[in-house]
Amino acid sequence: MMQPQGRQAVTVMGATGSIGTSTLDVISRHPERYRVHALTAHRSREALFEQCRLYTPDIAVLATEADAAWLRQRLADAGLATQVRAGTQALIDVARDDEATIVMAAIVGAAGLLPTLAAVEAGKRVLLANKEALVMSGALFMEAVTRSGATLLPIDSEHNAIYQCLPIEHRDGLVRHGVSQLLLTASGGPFRGWSAEQIARVTPEQACAHPNWAMGRKISVDSATLMNKGLELIEACWLFDASPEQIQVVVHPQSVIHSMVAYHDGSVIAQMGNPDMRTPIAYGLAWPERIDAGVKPLDLFAVARLDFDVPDEDTFPCLRLAREAMKAGGTAPAILNAANEVAVEAFLEGRLSFTGIGEVVARVLDRQTVASADTLEGILEANRQARHLAQQLLDVKT
Ligand code: NAD
Ligand code: MG
Repeated sequence: MMQPQGRQAVTVMGATGSIGTSTLDVISRHPERYRVHALTAHRSREALFEQCRLYTPDIAVLATEADAAWLRQRLADAGLATQVRAGTQALIDVARDDEATIVMAAIVGAAGLLPTLAAVEAGKRVLLANKEALVMSGALFMEAVTRSGATLLPIDSEHNAIYQCLPIEHRDGLVRHGVSQLLLTASGGPFRGWSAEQIARVTPEQACAHPNWAMGRKISVDSATLMNKGLELIEACWLFDASPEQIQVVVHPQSVIHSMVAYHDGSVIAQMGNPDMRTPIAYGLAWPERIDAGVKPLDLFAVARLDFDVPDEDTFPCLRLAREAMKAGGTAPAILNAANEVAVEAFLEGRLSFTGIGEVVARVLDRQTVASADTLEGILEANRQARHLAQQLLDVKT
């Protein structure tokens, strides 16, 4: 279908990652609707160069000046006109650049906070994959959405599912719309049903081999510890103005139901599909229209059965820690997130055991005083302090 105002320009932050490449895959199926304005990556200069060849963006951003210089040279040799910039400020500038109307926020972790907020403040259509940004800055983030008039579309599959199961105008309160509960589904990760002894010996390779989804390494580990579900619980509280009590986590190993909304009249509405992030990405790009995402149709006969179970919060304490952090409020979620990022990195580098991740997060939450989260400076300070504390704990351990 031809867009009356011409093609929409899209900026993809975190273009070389799992969500970024899926986003470009969907975009490439609709050249009449979308063009790429800017692509950003951290260090993956080779991958970004290949993407520049394929999608000819106006701008590309990398973290360091050295990598940017390398990319500039490669692009010049290839006769491409993409401008190359470097550093955090360049990332923020690109996020709010007038040229793009849609910004995919797919940087992983706290590094995505400032650029994602910049896109929100500029009133873009923001496709939010970077859940850590919202977990850290919840109230501030949602206020910025209201103030700027940005259109915030959740890309996390669970939140995208809930969004699809809610009435369009749900921002004025779930209860008004007859919602009784949000049912957040969880695959349970690769270690569902394992004993504490088995889990203590888990390796990074095992943790990154998710049964249903192919994802970046950090979120794969988060899925295995159930911290991902904890971050998603906090994310859902902010996105849908819900309390932690209004959200029930449901373990559903097939990952076919992506989440559900329960209403007071007894109805439960579910969104289903194959576990493929191109579905929520296509939804976010085209909303309120629907476009082809390249996703295989769901074969219910092949799925055959749907199972449901309660999460095991004794073996996987991270979900409980996240719920408690949300209840504590203020900077507690930012502290949780920061400690988790440091601990996950240490686990991936072989410096911390799998069960050590939850221990480090719990101890940092115990030690650090929660402050109010009504300024960005306060949030960034809590993030810095929690990282420092987590690092100290790791140094003692190793
Ligand atoms: P990934 O590790 O595959 O990709 C991360 C991207 O961010 C890369 O392009 C990388 O270059 C860039 N990046 C990393 N560190 C950066 C930094 N310090 N500064 C700037 N850029 C940086 O991650 P992913 O799996 O695509 O996940 C991205 C985000 O989406 C995460 O917040 C994750 O929780 C969320 N998410 C992912 C999935 C999924 O299926 N992969 C599903 C739901 C939500
Ligand atoms: Mg998810």
